[in-house]
Amino acid sequence: MDAETLRQYLEFYQDLGFKTLYRRTPAAVAPVVEAPEAVSTPPSPTIAMELPPLAPKDDTLPKILEDIGDCRRCKLCEGRSKIVFGVGNERSPLVFVGEGPGADEDAQGIPFVGRAGQLLTQMIEGTARKEGMNLLRNDIYIANVVKCRPPENRTPEPEEMEICGQFLHRQLMAIRPKAICALGGTAARALTGHKEGVTKMRGKWFKWQDIPVMVTYHPSYLLRAYNVEPKREAWEDLKKLLHYVYD
Ligand code: URA
Repeated sequence: MDAETLRQYLEFYQDLGFKTLYRRTPAAVAPVVEAPEAVSTPPSPTIAMELPPLAPKDDTLPKILEDIGDCRRCKLCEGRSKIVFGVGNERSPLVFVGEGPGADEDAQGIPFVGRAGQLLTQMIEGTARKEGMNLLRNDIYIANVVKCRPPENRTPEPEEMEICGQFLHRQLMAIRPKAICALGGTAARALTGHKEGVTKMRGKWFKWQDIPVMVTYHPSYLLRAYNVEPKREAWEDLKKLLHYVYD
């Protein structure tokens, strides 16, 4: 990369609010992930230039939170009460990723604490119990694509996801789970690069970096009374996911 290209790069990241960039370390040996069968590879996005790595080598969740600070990098900061960073076990082999905080999460600063969150907890703990696993919500880690509540719970805009996605990227790199569960279409598209709807993607394995990603329905969708079949499908997806991670 020549000096002019590098300068443009650094300006781009500075505009996004980054104060520090880290140099890539010599190629690490790719972690051996015993990938489930039929892992689908996302179509490679067209990248004009190779991106510099976004996560420092010894990154930690407290450091990421500190770097987020009182974030003003996008307009979602205007309506938020609390930044909703993530919750749970930072050594978890499993991370759930939702779209963005709702009203309850915005008030408490914790992801998935409203009705959808209660359903998510039941789904995780109920499926685990039925499958003979001793797993509680606190054992896993939960985060969102964007950390501030979008107004009226609208879908986050691409620019918002791009800016905030850098922090999700660092969270996932720091935790390095064995698998990720994308809850709903927004998280699925953000993590996999695939553009299909969630009904096409659910129940299938994709990848984020080297890590297998299972896509399933967002619990808010499942809360709608008529969604009986999707509920059954979501339970099937979770079963598959939990067995892959914990067997
Ligand atoms: N919906 C999400 O996607 N995330 C939350 O934290 C709550 C509801």
